[in-house]
Amino acid sequence: MCHDWGVFGKISSPSLETETVHGGHPVDPVTGGIVPPIHTSTTYARDADYRLIGDYLYGRHGLPSYRPVEDLAARLDGGADALLFASGLAGFSAVVETVAPGGRIVAPRVMYYGAQQWLRRLDSLGRIDLTLFDQQMPHALEEAVTGRDTELVWIETPVNPTWDVIDIAGAARAAHGAGGRLAVDSTAAPLTTRPIDLGADLTFHSATKFYNGHSDVGGGIVIAANSDGQWEQILDVRKHQGGVMGAFEAWLLLRGMRTLYLRVDRASESAMTLARHFEDDPRVVAVLYPGLESHPGHHIARAQMTRGFGAMLSIRVAGGHDAARAVASSTEVFVPATSLGGVESLIEHRAAVEPPESVVPDDLLRLSIGIEPVDDLIADLEMALDAGRR
Ligand code: PLP
Repeated sequence: MCHDWGVFGKISSPSLETETVHGGHPVDPVTGGIVPPIHTSTTYARDADYRLIGDYLYGRHGLPSYRPVEDLAARLDGGADALLFASGLAGFSAVVETVAPGGRIVAPRVMYYGAQQWLRRLDSLGRIDLTLFDQQMPHALEEAVTGRDTELVWIETPVNPTWDVIDIAGAARAAHGAGGRLAVDSTAAPLTTRPIDLGADLTFHSATKFYNGHSDVGGGIVIAANSDGQWEQILDVRKHQGGVMGAFEAWLLLRGMRTLYLRVDRASESAMTLARHFEDDPRVVAVLYPGLESHPGHHIARAQMTRGFGAMLSIRVAGGHDAARAVASSTEVFVPATSLGGVESLIEHRAAVEPPESVVPDDLLRLSIGIEPVDDLIADLEMALDAGRR
């Protein structure tokens, strides 16, 4: 019997988790290789009639090595299509670029500071009209869009680095009611949050984080609910601004994605254990984690995070800025470094990297939980919190 090994679903319908382990494709249909090839060619030949031999023309328009990654990313988020970019911010900028000159963008007051800094810059240049809303106030987003045309609502949930939770379905209603689109940065909560299922038009991931998972590839993925005219515009921006990924990076990213479920499940479980362990610790003013019943966004998180509460949490250290800095400098397992979503746990004193206008408290330490045994992580933080008191 001859199987078409290039696609799933011919003889059974494996789960999305199994598809992901197989990198989206069971076997390369041309060679039988169980790992896809890396297509490095940046230009593609024509036949005797001057027609392109395949679907590809030129590297900046998209490479064959993107397709398995983009197809899998679209499946993971329930979207119609996905596009890979050279970094998270290249993908974010492509979405922002589709907003008309002077068009209105609404975003939370706390979010990934690099993206917000860029929005503030565009606003100061008159390129966009930016409104920030307080993501901790229940109706702030509705109020920010009511009676004013809005082209794009860009939210993040949970919000980096305070992990406030934004109601995606409510944000979609608000954005659509104002004539705009909703884009959700789901970098911190892959697999567990599927914004498109809740009404979002675009889902975004910095693939540099959990998707790749090994702190060695930079990338961004934008996923569309519908491949409509606006989606074509985003593709056009990628083609003309050229924020494209290399073929090797795309291949590495797919390799990382094969273990996404394992890594995210393990790290989320550990994050929950750590959050509970330190919740009532007198050396800690607050543990910010959506999985804790004490978290103000817990009830929304329960409804829209379907596979754990993510692997990101923050702690606010008793003793303020100096104590927090001492803790961040005293860990041995947690690496004091920026970024998140890798197999190794990271700790970061956010005040050291946030811009002056940031409202993030200066006693806050952001923890990206990796896949080390949780007992090692607890012991390391216990030791560092003691050091922070000296
Ligand atoms: N969104 C979030 C939530 C992030 O944490 C980051 C980076 O830290 C980005 C977007 C930007 O992604 P990149 O660094 O891949 O450009």
